[in-house]
Amino acid sequence: MTKQRELILSILKQSDRHLTADEIFFLAKLKMPSIAMATVYNNLNAMNEAGIVKRLHIDGVADCFDKITEPHDHLLCDRCGRITDIHLPALATSIEATLGTEIEDYELTVHYVCPECRRAPKRR
Ligand SMILES: [Zn+2]
Ligand SMILES: [Zn+2]
Repeated sequence: MTKQRELILSILKQSDRHLTADEIFFLAKLKMPSIAMATVYNNLNAMNEAGIVKRLHIDGVADCFDKITEPHDHLLCDRCGRITDIHLPALATSIEATLGTEIEDYELTVHYVCPECRRAPKRR
């Protein structure tokens, strides 16, 4: 593993969020000022293909990267855009029971207003 890839992976692992390529680039540059955007993109793509990280496509939000590659679903706050993990193992079972057959994969994004935004006074 190259130094660049190690750095990119450690940034993702240390974050408790789902980071966009731009955010990863910004954080990587703090530690390795010589790193290029293309290097970050190429490494993220390669790690996505190798199953080390997972690229998330969510409508209306920039693609971001997930260090958790096991199946799980996402909550998206419609106010602040924050993405949170949610584990719904019973859902796949329920879909399969309804269909009467195995499924390969599914993607689910649940839209909601996150607890912080619910507490905060409404924006003007
Ligand atoms: Zn929010
Ligand atoms: Zn996730």
